[in-house]
Amino acid sequence: MHLAFSYVSVLLLTLTATLFCEALRPYVSPVNMVMVYLVAVVLSSLWLGQKQAILTALLGVLAFDFFFVPPRLTFSVADKEYLITFFGLFGVGVIISALVAKVQDRAEKLKAREAETASLYRLSKDLAVAADLQAVVISIVKNVEVSMDARAVLFLADGDRLHVADNSSGLNVDTECEKVALWSFRSLRPAGSGTSTFPLSEMLFIPLQVLETPLGVLGIHFNTERNTRFEQLRRLLEAFGTQSALALERIRLSQQAEHAQLLKARERLGRALLNSVSHDLRTPLVTITGVLSTIRDEEHQLSEKVRKDLVDTAWEEAGRLNRFVGNLLDMTRLEAGELKLKLETCDVQDLVGCALASVEHRLGARIVDVQLPSDLLLARMDLVLMTQVLVNLIDNALKYSPFESHVEIASYADNKHLTIEVADRGPGIPDHDLTRIFDKFYRISVPEGAGGTGLGLSICKGIVEAHGGRIYAENRRGGGLKFVVQLSQEGGQDA
Ligand code: ADP
Repeated sequence: MHLAFSYVSVLLLTLTATLFCEALRPYVSPVNMVMVYLVAVVLSSLWLGQKQAILTALLGVLAFDFFFVPPRLTFSVADKEYLITFFGLFGVGVIISALVAKVQDRAEKLKAREAETASLYRLSKDLAVAADLQAVVISIVKNVEVSMDARAVLFLADGDRLHVADNSSGLNVDTECEKVALWSFRSLRPAGSGTSTFPLSEMLFIPLQVLETPLGVLGIHFNTERNTRFEQLRRLLEAFGTQSALALERIRLSQQAEHAQLLKARERLGRALLNSVSHDLRTPLVTITGVLSTIRDEEHQLSEKVRKDLVDTAWEEAGRLNRFVGNLLDMTRLEAGELKLKLETCDVQDLVGCALASVEHRLGARIVDVQLPSDLLLARMDLVLMTQVLVNLIDNALKYSPFESHVEIASYADNKHLTIEVADRGPGIPDHDLTRIFDKFYRISVPEGAGGTGLGLSICKGIVEAHGGRIYAENRRGGGLKFVVQLSQEGGQDA
């Protein structure tokens, strides 16, 4: 409130009290009029301030003396007891004004504290849900704008330099600003407006740090009363700085952890590849070398049958080697996005026929039940690649199910999908692995398990998805596993 106006108000209050007392004069004794002046003092301290209240008490004493204490309209006092009344009125006036000022001050502080708590709560809530660096940066700037009636710029550390991560619209961040921010960053002390360093700067800069590690600097441009605000807001600013720094540190650590995990996963993948490549290349090679050396060294001692068995074994192993290298190459092509489909309209009968023909020599006495509808089942596909999918699935079924059990192949279509199923009566797989088996190099180790690379199913998935279809596995009732391949029929059913 304007100072002159407040003193005029003091005069008016005293005048009103005096007029009121004048109206009461016929009915009350002068001593009781003191109460009216006390009310004026209370109102003055509530509305105008402490100093003004003391002045009201003083003027009250004078007016009371002049107008109501006999002899009236003089300052002389006939009855000296009135002196006690004067001191009482003035003393109580001073005490009341001090008490009211104290209560008001406390209420104001409480209100400010409440506002601080609310704005810190808002900030921590926003920061807690911010999932990445960008979101954290945006919520810091937004909260400064809202809570402090200010515009803000957030600098983040880049080695020992700073770069602007975000700033309020319309805030000009010039080289002078950057200089002060850099000073604050390097010395880990607030700088700029309202501090002793660079006090002429338009903005206040506070370093964001966790322990001794500087993470950035927050620059604040107060929209009003800029120079006095630093001290008032010191506690809030420090809390803002700490919360923001902690959020930035959390993001930095989680990025680091993610990076470390990625490296670890890559390392694991590399190791798995190396293990499987060395194992799967060496096993057939050792067998083939063994067979060849036996045939070379003991050619004349070997009976015709033994020689044939040896050659069959070597042939089988060479086939395995070939499939393995083929799988590796396919995987590389799939990953490089070089797999080009040669789509043609094919009958599923041909597809199953081709697949069975290529696993024939591994079938031995195993029984494969094939259930296909009598009509043509046509779909657009790359026959060679889809045959490979089926071969991999049949291979797995043979590999993981008991020798005497049947492997079942079925296919059917509705107007949307062509479905092909390969099912066995093996051990099935734990439910939580049903999707993971399609990951590269993912294998479930079984004690008596057959060798493998963990590549087959991921290649199947790659090929089926390249066709726009999907592949999944499910455990069968009564035991065993079923793989389902679904190809979309859209535009594919051209006979
Ligand atoms: P590989 O057979 O070379 O290990 P795959 O990618 O073909 O690699 O299979 C991944 C894993 O899925 C296998 O290690 C195996 O544990 C499991 N699996 C695949 N097919 C079957 C099946 N028909 N029955 C049980 N488990 C299977």
